[in-house]
Amino acid sequence: MIIEPRTRGFICLTAHPTGCEQNVVDQIAYVKSKGKINGAKKVLVIGSSTGFGLASRISSAFGSDASTIGVFFDKPSTPGRTGSAGYYNTAAFEKHAHKAGLYAKSINGDAFSNEIKRKTLDMIKEDLGQVDLVIYSLASPVRTHPDTGTRYKSVLKPIGGVFSNKTVDFHTGDVTEISINPAEGDDIANTVAVMGGEDWKMWMDALKSENLLAEGATTVAYSYIGPSLTEAVYRKGTIGAAKDDLEATAFTISDALKSIGGKAYVSVNKALVTQASSAIPVIPLYISLLYKIMKAKGIHEGCIEQIQRLYSERLFNGKEMLLDDNGRIRIDDWEMREDVQEEVAKLWETASTENLFDIGDLEGYSNDFFNLFGFKVDGVDYNADVNEMVEIPSEN
Ligand code: NAD
Repeated sequence: MIIEPRTRGFICLTAHPTGCEQNVVDQIAYVKSKGKINGAKKVLVIGSSTGFGLASRISSAFGSDASTIGVFFDKPSTPGRTGSAGYYNTAAFEKHAHKAGLYAKSINGDAFSNEIKRKTLDMIKEDLGQVDLVIYSLASPVRTHPDTGTRYKSVLKPIGGVFSNKTVDFHTGDVTEISINPAEGDDIANTVAVMGGEDWKMWMDALKSENLLAEGATTVAYSYIGPSLTEAVYRKGTIGAAKDDLEATAFTISDALKSIGGKAYVSVNKALVTQASSAIPVIPLYISLLYKIMKAKGIHEGCIEQIQRLYSERLFNGKEMLLDDNGRIRIDDWEMREDVQEEVAKLWETASTENLFDIGDLEGYSNDFFNLFGFKVDGVDYNADVNEMVEIPSEN
């Protein structure tokens, strides 16, 4: 069938298998071009199908020849209906990993559930024995607690007062004022329950209790800080409360891993267009201005460049880990550079529907958004008939 993008707000309902495969191939080529990384050899990636998790899986497999197990939650293709991008990405990743002689298996299901944890532990036990790196890269709006069955919904709200600022509809370029009402009731606790550290800790406890973590095993979860411009809705908002909890959990996990010489880290990554970030008000406008400045300065990175640098210059460079005062890895260092932030703040003041195409990188934002779903990818013929039915090799 001919597959075209069908968008609804910040969601795209279709995905293109050839475009998704090309994205994966391009990321693999990037990692290979940077040379080998002396990194972990047996890797579990939780949230492995898109964004930073996919980039982590690719960096481990093609940078360090690692065996990888990926856990993700995506929609398979059915006749006449495309699968979700993460599904096609995973099929493409496995295809190319297997071609390169690498072990790669994937589990599609709810990582928050006991059932998927059990399945993953059994797979590690049978196939790898132990893992030496666990990447935790989930981004989800909901979580059903495995013990109580309570379904929590996260919200993206400021805390303490109404937040008003500019935002952009990145499809049209319309810059408007939005006001977001503050969190109320259980909003903060619910968001922490979904995006905080409890589930990460559950995974690590389960892995450790069944002796599935190798001596010296490392685990890394991803966080975000960002500038004062987005602070009210991000870092000091409900999602920020969840990130505070996630970051605190790194210390709890590190304590629990002491007996095996293991360590938990949080890496603070750069703001990037992913399915998760397009849903956050104000962030798309910030990203389109940030992209413009970082590209002009020659320091723009996507997920794969970020994670390749995280691996090669921080996690596996053989030197003492460079951490900030709160014990976090900062791979958002270029985003947060003073000169970058000063210029973004200046542009923010004047940004309007009339000038955003000039002063911001709306085109870059929009392209990245479509790329997430395999559209507008260089080298792909979108007029060609494509089979929407793709299988993930390890699932058959
Ligand atoms: P993403 O939406 O691209 O990826 C999320 C992944 O989680 C996907 O593989 C998806 O399948 C998986 N997933 C979601 N719910 C699941 C579930 N219930 N069970 C199993 N898998 C599930 O998101 P992303 O932007 O790459 O975010 C990953 C992490 O990086 C998040 O913690 C996010 O806060 C953080 N981060 C993102 C940015 C950014 O700008 N995008 C910046 C810094 C940090």
